[in-house]
Amino acid sequence: MSRKYKRAPKFNSHLDTVSTVRGSGWVRRRRLGAKRDPSATADGTDCVQVGGEVIMRGTKFMRQRVQTRMFVALLVVMTFVAGPLSALGQKTSPVAPTRAQAEAAVKEAYEKFKNDTNGKNADYIPVLAQVDSKLFGIAIVTTDNQVLTMGDINFSFSIQSISKVFSQALAMEELGPDKVFEKVGSEPTGRAFNSVFAVADMPTHTGNPYVNAGAIATVSLISGKTADEKWNKILDFYGRVAGEKLKLIDEVYKSEAATNTGNKALSMLLAKYDRIYADPFESVDVYTKQCSVGVNVAQLARMGATLANNGKNPATGEQVIKPENIPHILSTMIMAGLYDGSGGWAWHVGLPAKSGVGGGIVAVVPGKGAIAVFAPPLDEAGNSVKAQKVIEYVANRLDLNVFSPRSVGLKGE
Ligand code: GLN
Repeated sequence: MSRKYKRAPKFNSHLDTVSTVRGSGWVRRRRLGAKRDPSATADGTDCVQVGGEVIMRGTKFMRQRVQTRMFVALLVVMTFVAGPLSALGQKTSPVAPTRAQAEAAVKEAYEKFKNDTNGKNADYIPVLAQVDSKLFGIAIVTTDNQVLTMGDINFSFSIQSISKVFSQALAMEELGPDKVFEKVGSEPTGRAFNSVFAVADMPTHTGNPYVNAGAIATVSLISGKTADEKWNKILDFYGRVAGEKLKLIDEVYKSEAATNTGNKALSMLLAKYDRIYADPFESVDVYTKQCSVGVNVAQLARMGATLANNGKNPATGEQVIKPENIPHILSTMIMAGLYDGSGGWAWHVGLPAKSGVGGGIVAVVPGKGAIAVFAPPLDEAGNSVKAQKVIEYVANRLDLNVFSPRSVGLKGE
């Protein structure tokens, strides 16, 4: 069997492995047990037993009359009780695509882009240059915790800049959004993510939480007596957003820690402008660790799904992020999630998203779910080439663009 054949894509449904699924969904139906009483007689007299209680007995004729009445009663119940109740219980978006539509779109995108060789692995962090450029995985996690995956879904890659979203969220949990906005801000820089010029030029100096300077400042806001305490708090928080414990990829951390003179320079510049709120180099170190957290593509999609689900993890049911913080996070993602590629992304795709130089991108579809793609080769701005193409394709096929009225079910003529 050739290696290629062995690695052939497989659509995996994890529905039955997810034991913590809550609420309604495409696959969750419960039948009310109505069963025949074993004491039924030959002349057609029998009974129907619901929940252990015999509610009907008689001849075939009587049975029909009672059945008609029951039918009418059921209609009344359905109209006045079941309708409003099921609307209350509905947890999925009424305009979410069906599972079959999502599966078809993901399969098509996978086939269309799997042989795309554009872009290049990041190499300024030496160990990232060694990651297999052909790795390619896609995952969708919905707000009712359905999981669709395809391709290389077990590979654990470094989360890199995608971490910045979740440290921003943690800082807001601790300090509230107003403080974070005041101390870091949320303006696009129009420059590369590690730009020194942006720090010098911008009135706030920090730009936003997703460029390196703003991200290091954000980390410096997170409370903790020691750097270790901050780091452990960050790692634990990311794990709660993902719904499972995450780990540091030590070799990525060491590789970046040995080469991150640029980020140290940024931290010193922030200190010059009083825009860093803890020890600068210590903050860079915690930041470097947070970028080295390993995730696979399904874990990343679930982190996005937590944002889509108003801060509540769809697998564990834990409210990890306050709902009122979600719009601040998603607006930052649309404005700066793909750095100086964010304007083009908003134009073409229209989904809040975040990229990392490890090759991951996660895009959030509010109220519906998230799609994550992992493929290491990057474009000039540092965004995965294949991940952008896949998400754009799937978003178009499924009408997900948040700026399009079609995304909420309003179709044109
Ligand atoms: N750790 C990386 C850095 O600081 C993150 C950059 C990124 O993913 N864009 O440069």
